[in-house]
Amino acid sequence: LLSARKVTKTFGSLTALDAVDLDVMRGEVLCIIGPSGSGKSTLLRCLNQIERFDRGAVWIDDELIGYRQDGDTLHELDDRAIARQRLACGMVFQRFNLFNHMTALQNIMEGPVTVLKRPRQEVRQEAIALLQRVGLSDKHDAYPAQLSGGQQQRVAIARALAMKPKLMLFDEPTSALDPELVGEVLTVMRDLAASGMTMIVVTHELGFAREVADRVIFMDAGRIVETGAPDQVLGEPSQQRTRDFIAAVL
Ligand code: ATP
Ligand code: MG
Repeated sequence: LLSARKVTKTFGSLTALDAVDLDVMRGEVLCIIGPSGSGKSTLLRCLNQIERFDRGAVWIDDELIGYRQDGDTLHELDDRAIARQRLACGMVFQRFNLFNHMTALQNIMEGPVTVLKRPRQEVRQEAIALLQRVGLSDKHDAYPAQLSGGQQQRVAIARALAMKPKLMLFDEPTSALDPELVGEVLTVMRDLAASGMTMIVVTHELGFAREVADRVIFMDAGRIVETGAPDQVLGEPSQQRTRDFIAAVL
């Protein structure tokens, strides 16, 4: 579903991503772990074209992102084409980023109605079903300020799903939550994984990674240091840096 080759991103003299290769199969759940500053967020932001990378290439469903190929030459896509490509990925951030002046239901309906120009009634039915799916059937008319952090994050997940993305990117979706609210968000993500959604999840929740991920990636200093089955990467890592990181997190 997704293929990245030699994706490189620098900020001045700092190499945030150093020739990262990544392949994600349809239905696969990938967890990315690694120390602060290792490039995890930058990788997600590049895959979603929030950030432009300097070198390398990314394909989603065999479509090259960011560029149009014309024989041997590449042309940068315009903003409109990039916005269209970006719809392939749903993104959930650490902070919930809901529209504060809109109810939960309005938040979920906004994208399909204004961006996809879909009929309001149909979108409304889907939004109601999505709220039910994230366990918030009784919160249609609640504003973000009236919801707990965990509830807001579940609305944010429903809002991303409303755009029917091909894959979902999560950047530390539970790290801004009070500990007692983490579980409800992870439960929604676990259900989503079980439903067959392709997911890339940056997380420090090693228990979640062990249980739900098909594959775990450890990043350090802009590189993928180690990748493998959760039991292998988390249980018997082959690299010293991975061992040190896991020991520090546990
Ligand atoms: P964390 O676990 O703290 O979220 P991370 O693995 O997500 O860390 P990134 O946010 O991807 O790390 O950052 C990778 C490196 O790139 C860091 O050294 C960071 O300071 C740098 N960086 C990220 N965004 C920018 C930016 N817009 N301008 C300059 N440097 C940046
Ligand atoms: Mg980050």
